[in-house]
Amino acid sequence: MDLKARLAILADAAKYDASCASSGVKRKTAPGGIGNSEGMGICHSYTPDGRCVSLLKILLTNHCIYDCSYCVNRVSSAVKRAKFTVDEIVALTMDFYRRNYIEGLFLSSGVIRSSDQTMEEMVDVARKLRVEQRFGGYIHLKAVAGCSRELLEKAGLYADRLSANIELPLQSDLDLLAPAKKQVDVEKSMGEIREKILETKEHAPRFKSTPKFAPGGQSTQMIVGATASTDADILKKASQLYKGYSLKRVYYSAFSPIPHGAPILPLKSPPLIREHRLYQADWLLRFYGFKESELTTPESGNLDLNLDPKLSWAIRNRQFFPVDVNRAPKSHLLRIPGLGLKSVEKILEMRRFRALRLEDLGKMHVPLHRMKYFIQAQGGNPSIRALDSTSLRDLLSPPAEQLDLFQSATLARTGEG
Ligand code: SF4
Repeated sequence: MDLKARLAILADAAKYDASCASSGVKRKTAPGGIGNSEGMGICHSYTPDGRCVSLLKILLTNHCIYDCSYCVNRVSSAVKRAKFTVDEIVALTMDFYRRNYIEGLFLSSGVIRSSDQTMEEMVDVARKLRVEQRFGGYIHLKAVAGCSRELLEKAGLYADRLSANIELPLQSDLDLLAPAKKQVDVEKSMGEIREKILETKEHAPRFKSTPKFAPGGQSTQMIVGATASTDADILKKASQLYKGYSLKRVYYSAFSPIPHGAPILPLKSPPLIREHRLYQADWLLRFYGFKESELTTPESGNLDLNLDPKLSWAIRNRQFFPVDVNRAPKSHLLRIPGLGLKSVEKILEMRRFRALRLEDLGKMHVPLHRMKYFIQAQGGNPSIRALDSTSLRDLLSPPAEQLDLFQSATLARTGEG
């Protein structure tokens, strides 16, 4: 099979992996080198919901010894198989970079023979790019679960970011769909990457020659809607991974039915708004001081699809409000629906000089129509407690057509449905 045909197969097979958004890492180009991870290239790689990233996103091979039901590359799948050599990937990356098609490489792979053998070839690609080609662009390598610590240590020397995919939130999900996979193996790799990142950070200020190790950190991916696990399960796992392994990002990828999928799988994708709500909730966990247990309720376990998670929490917890924008601590301001991190900082700065009135907030371009039910300001606020929670929920829910629009816009991008 010629290179072009294999590229078509191995780029298509890689599109199901969402865990490869660029991490914004800064890497200087060595004199005489080529590439710059800060530069913008033409987007050539697409996540399943259509987001475009300027990486050459391919698999080393789609051969795999495992049989994960949700994966198009599983051993029992009837897809066409292909494999690149290490030198072919190096040449492709350099060629695409020189033509300004890409700003870097995202490389993953099916498992050939063993985790170590697969990882060794991927590390070799990264080493050749960095050392032989002096490539300064972005490199994201998939850490194959179960590979040796030595190989992970080598991978981090050449890659900007590493990612070991947890895939599903519960071990019981894996037992059902990917019985050969163990969360402990994936978390072992995450732990080893984390240790090495910390060690490097500790040594770097004392020893200038300390080589960088995965400066863009590590990320992972969770598939949403392939099993009955709830958003509470997903957010609990995400929270544990953020705390335990200092992940930079957890990517949520709505399950998309694959050609010739196993009968055990759902026939349809979950609503794409569910993936969107999980990203919003993830943001609240990382930057707004929310705990995962606050974002869902024991009754449903899933995020409200009609309301963003912060607004949904606020309506369920009206006893917390009104928050006085002139006196409340930052942690309380961050809980006001519609108020983002920058606006909170602005309020904290402005109120040092004078008490803020509703009109002042209106001039800050914040969504006052939503916030006004939750805040107190100088001069009073007639909207507080004007409505019971059910009426407030109805009033602030986006119209059904808006949610439908979101859904159809996303479907149009993915070409599904
Ligand atoms: S190990 Fe990876 S490539 Fe292989 S079947 Fe499972 S998910 Fe697919």
